[in-house]
Amino acid sequence: MQEKVYEVPADWAKRAYVDEARYNEMYEASIRDPEAFWDEHGRRIDWFTPYEKVKNVSYAPGEVSIRWFEDGVTNVAYNCIDRHLETRGDQTAIIWEGDDPSESRLITYRELHDEVCRFANVLRNRGVEKGDRVTIYMPMIPEAAFAMLACARLGAIHSVVFGGFSPDSLAGRIEDCASKVVITADEGLRGGRKVPLKANVDAAIAKVGGVDHVVVVRRTGADVAMEPGRDVWYHEAAALVTSECPCEPMEAEDPLFILYTSGSTGKPKGVLHTTGGYLVYASMTHQYVFDYHDGDIFWCTADVGWVTGHSYILYGPLANGATTLMFEGVPNYPDNSRFWRVIDKHQVNIFYTAPTAIRALMQAGDEPVKKTSRTSLRLLGSVGEPINPEAWEWYYRVVGDGRCPIVDTWWQTETGGILISPLPGAIALKPGSATRPFFGIRPEIVDAEGKVLEGATEGNLCIADSWPGQMRTVYGDHQRFMDTYFSTYPGKYFTGDGCRRDADGYYWITGRVDDVINVSGHRMGTAEVESALVAHAKVSEAAVVGYPHDIKGQGIYAYVTLMAGVEPTEELRKELVQWVRKEIGPIASPDLVQFAPNLPKTRSGKIMRRILRKIAEDEFSNLGDTSTLADPSVVDDLIHNRQNKR
Ligand code: ATP
Ligand code: MG
Repeated sequence: MQEKVYEVPADWAKRAYVDEARYNEMYEASIRDPEAFWDEHGRRIDWFTPYEKVKNVSYAPGEVSIRWFEDGVTNVAYNCIDRHLETRGDQTAIIWEGDDPSESRLITYRELHDEVCRFANVLRNRGVEKGDRVTIYMPMIPEAAFAMLACARLGAIHSVVFGGFSPDSLAGRIEDCASKVVITADEGLRGGRKVPLKANVDAAIAKVGGVDHVVVVRRTGADVAMEPGRDVWYHEAAALVTSECPCEPMEAEDPLFILYTSGSTGKPKGVLHTTGGYLVYASMTHQYVFDYHDGDIFWCTADVGWVTGHSYILYGPLANGATTLMFEGVPNYPDNSRFWRVIDKHQVNIFYTAPTAIRALMQAGDEPVKKTSRTSLRLLGSVGEPINPEAWEWYYRVVGDGRCPIVDTWWQTETGGILISPLPGAIALKPGSATRPFFGIRPEIVDAEGKVLEGATEGNLCIADSWPGQMRTVYGDHQRFMDTYFSTYPGKYFTGDGCRRDADGYYWITGRVDDVINVSGHRMGTAEVESALVAHAKVSEAAVVGYPHDIKGQGIYAYVTLMAGVEPTEELRKELVQWVRKEIGPIASPDLVQFAPNLPKTRSGKIMRRILRKIAEDEFSNLGDTSTLADPSVVDDLIHNRQNKR
C-alpha cells in the first residue's frame, strides 16, 4: 500500500474552522461526553420547542432503539428555507445546470420558499398529510428539490427513487412503503437521451396499484398519457394555489424520509431517517468536512435519488444557507470536459464526486481537464467506493492542480452523513485512506468473533455508539434492522465493511466484508488488489473476487478494464499478474485475469462484486437480485468471455 502523506497546507490550517489541535480537542470532548457535545451542537438548527433530552439510545440485543433530541420540535423545510429569508432572501440557494450546456437557472432562497410552498399546497390539495408516504421519481430538475422540501414542510415522508430505475424496481419501492402519491416528470433528459419517466410510472402502477394521485412535472414537453382523476400536470395545479404554506411542527423523531440502499449486496433495504438528528448531523458534517464558508459555491454531483444527494445537495447545504449546484446531466456529455466547464461557468469552490466518475474521466486522459481553468476550486471530495490511490493522485494532480485537498468521505445510506473523513484544515492526507472519524464517531475494528482489536490492525468495521444522523429502522421491519446491523456483533452497529487501521490511527476501507478473499489462509480485501491493478498505466478499472481453488481454498479472479485504445493481449495478461506480484506480493497475484470492457455496476456506479463472484464460480443461473444493475447486458458479455479454470 502506498503511504505517501500530504501535509495540511498552512493557509488551510489557518482559514479552516478546525486545525489539528482543535480537531483533537473537539473529537475527545465528543467521545468523553457525547451528551454535552451534542447538547451544544444540536442547537445549530432552529427548534420551535428546544429539546431538553439529548440522547436516548439502546443497542441492546432485541431492543435496539435510537432517539435523539426527542422532546424537541422543529421542521426541516423551515431550517432549510424560512430561517434564511431575512438574511439571505436574495442569495442564490440552488444553481441548476441542465443536461444541455445552454440551459441553467438560479433560484434564490425567496424563490425557493415560494416554489416549495406552492408544491406543498398542490400535495395538500391531494390529501397529503403528516406521516403519508410520497414516492418521488424525478430527473435532476429543481422541481425534485421542491418536491422533497414540500414533503418535509407538510411532514410527509418522501421516498425518492432514482430516475434510472425500471418500472419493476419502482413498483417494488412504491409497494414497500404504500405510497398513495407519486411525483414524476413527463420525461427525463440525461446525456441527450430521453428517459420515459411517466410511462415507467404508469407501468409500475399497473403492477402494484394503490396510487391515487400522480403529479407530473413537464420537463421535455413529450406527449404522455394522463389518466383523468389520477394524473395532474404540476404547472396546472400550481397555478391554482398560493405561495404560502405553514411548516408542520415535527417532533425530532418523526420520519423525514425513506431511502432504499443502492443494492450492491442484495435486496435494497428501506432505510428510515428522522427529522432532528438527521438535519443536525447532515448540516454539521457539511460545514466541517467541506469547510463550507458563506459565499462558497458547493457542487455535489450525486443524484438526489441517492443519500449523497439528500444530505449534500439538499439538506446539509440548505440548512447552512449555502449555494448548492444541481446538475441534470452526465460527466461525458457533450464531451469529457463537462464537469470542468461547469466548474468554470459557475465558479465552483467545492466539488464532490464518486470514484467511478473519476476513473472514467481518467481513462479519457488529461487533455479534457487541462483545457479548462478550474482556478475557482479549493477542495475536492470523493464518496461511494474506496478510491484507488492511482485515481486519487490523478484527481489531486490533474483536476486540482496539486492545490486542493481531497476529502475521501466514508459513509452509508444508513449513517445519514459522513462518518470517516479528513477535515481539510486538520488532517494530513494519505491517498486511499478515509483517515479519521468525525466528531462523536467511535469506529471499532473487530475480528470474526467480535473481539475488539487495538492499535494497527485489520478486520470488520463497527461503530460502538450512536450519532444523531443514524438510521432508526428499516421501514416496516424493525426486526430486519436489528438482524442486519446489530446481531453480528451484539452491542455494536456493524457496517458490513472491512477496514484496516494503520499506526497513525488512519482508517482504510478495504471493501465489503462479504468480498474478502481468503487465499491459503491469508485474508485479503478486494480494494488492495484492485488498487495495485489500477496503478498499472494500461489499466483504468479492476474488480477482484475469489473463486473455489483446490489447493489455495480461494483463487483470485481479476476483471480488468483497459485504458482507451489498449489492446488486450496474452502478454499484457502475464504482465499484469507479475505487476501485482511485485506490488503486493506473490500471495496476491491473480490466478485468472479476464479483460472486460465493462463491469457490472449499480445504478449509482458501484461495482457489483456479488455478480462477478457468481460468474467466477460458474454459477450463471443463480446471479441473485440483478434489478439494481445499471446495464444487465454487461453480464452476458462477461459470462461469454469468462476464463477457464484449469
Ligand atoms: P447495499 O447496502 O444495498 O448493498 P450499498 O452498500 O452500495 O448497497 P450505499 O449506502 O449507497 O449502498 O453505500 C455505502 C457503502 O459504500 C459503504 O458501506 C462502503 O462499502 C462504500 N463506500 C462509501 N464511501 C466509501 C469510501 N469513501 N471509501 C470506501 N468505501 C466507501
Ligand atoms: Mg450497504
